[in-house]
Amino acid sequence: MEYSNTKIIGGYDANFLDKFLDDYECPVCKLVFREPIQTQCGHRLCLSCSEEIKKRNGGILLCPLDKKISNFDRIFRDKAFKRVIMQLHVKCDNYIRNCHWTGELKIINKHLKSCEYQEVKCINKQCSNLLLRKELKDHMETHCLYRFVRCQYCYRKICYIMLQAHFENCNCFPVDCVNQCGLSILRKEMPSHIANYCAFSLIPCQYFNIGCNFQL
Ligand SMILES: [Zn+2]
Ligand SMILES: [Zn+2]
Ligand SMILES: [Zn+2]
Ligand SMILES: [Zn+2]
Ligand SMILES: [Zn+2]
Ligand SMILES: [Zn+2]
Repeated sequence: MEYSNTKIIGGYDANFLDKFLDDYECPVCKLVFREPIQTQCGHRLCLSCSEEIKKRNGGILLCPLDKKISNFDRIFRDKAFKRVIMQLHVKCDNYIRNCHWTGELKIINKHLKSCEYQEVKCINKQCSNLLLRKELKDHMETHCLYRFVRCQYCYRKICYIMLQAHFENCNCFPVDCVNQCGLSILRKEMPSHIANYCAFSLIPCQYFNIGCNFQL
């Protein structure tokens, strides 16, 4: 949840600890005021809620409580009240997941950026896994399909999900001799094994030059 984004419509839906009066509740969204404004008739609304009202009423701010119209030059940002709200105490959004952090509303965003119980996306772009921040390190090191691991044969770093495919081409992967001599040979050494060492290789007869096609 992001609290500072001004595009959010409506008030704060945080887990407030303080017992508070209905005074803190916006009459439109029924949540705690975000960026409160005061109307000409002396009522408060969230800034975004007041803008929604204007949109619905052809640009006119009609108070939802007493239906009075406010002149735009008589509406003001209620900074003093905003300060009071930002000092209300909240629980972390992740308290259900056991985060015990509590603090003032104004610093919850900062906390969520480092909260160990916050859900985050894996850093590897192709990976769509969502994890708790405290699980991220372990996931990246030992579980992520997109982590880099060293090929145990050629020691190159390979994306884990490509590892099986890499073994099919890895130069240093041991493969059975194509002549089935019983030896296991590094793939890159197979041609030389066949040409020079394999006991099962067919060797052209020494009279190959003069037309003998016999192979030993
Ligand atoms: Zn509101
Ligand atoms: Zn009013
Ligand atoms: Zn937390
Ligand atoms: Zn991942
Ligand atoms: Zn390899
Ligand atoms: Zn062989």
